[in-house]
Amino acid sequence: MKPLAILGGTFDPVHIGHLCVAWEAAELLDAEVRLMPARVPPHRTPPVASAEQRVALLRAALAGQDRLQLDLRELERDGPSYSVDTLEALRAEQGDRPLVLMMGADAFAGLPGWHRWQRLFELAHIGVFARPGFEAAWPADLEAAIAGRLADPVGDWRGRPAGAVLTLEVTPLEISATRVRRLLAAGRLPRYLLPEGVFGVPASLDVYRRAPG
Ligand code: ATP
Repeated sequence: MKPLAILGGTFDPVHIGHLCVAWEAAELLDAEVRLMPARVPPHRTPPVASAEQRVALLRAALAGQDRLQLDLRELERDGPSYSVDTLEALRAEQGDRPLVLMMGADAFAGLPGWHRWQRLFELAHIGVFARPGFEAAWPADLEAAIAGRLADPVGDWRGRPAGAVLTLEVTPLEISATRVRRLLAAGRLPRYLLPEGVFGVPASLDVYRRAPG
């Protein structure tokens, strides 16, 4: 069975950077990939758009392909979206299937601040992609946790359900949702930083045009 890889995030809004890294990871890992929007991100300020608005944009962005899927379980659960709870549920559901929790280097550097973060390595592999403009330097406790776990994405991690740290070489794209929000709030139209599908949803981006960046 193909590994199951998850890209969690606020997707406020989804942009080409998310889609490109998720797609390339699907190819590199030969995995089923799901984008998983978070409801109450524990490490972040609240999103500008509501969960419904972010999902509408994600659905529009993913239309016309079936390689990247949407998983809404964190929005359907009460309380904060802790990745450890999500992975416990996925592990119970998926048996020994390899799971990969994917994130950009910026998110990975902050991993020691996540709820029960050490448990994540027991539940899933972690796939990290470089993020342009972000120097990959890990704090000491994270360095210690990943020692001995680094594995080649084409290596033998697929034979294990969890525990490896994979560096995913994807096309570097210096795009962030923060930048997209700022452009929209300034009255600009970041036409090619966003997937075409979102422009087919009437008024979908208005919430960012009204909001301070
Ligand atoms: P914001 O600017 O609001 O912080 P973001 O663009 O980082 O948002 P998130 O939804 O927070 O988007 O990101 C979800 C995941 O995708 C994170 O792990 C993040 O590191 C990763 N990611 C987002 N954009 C890129 C990109 N351009 N390259 C690599 N990883 C990315």
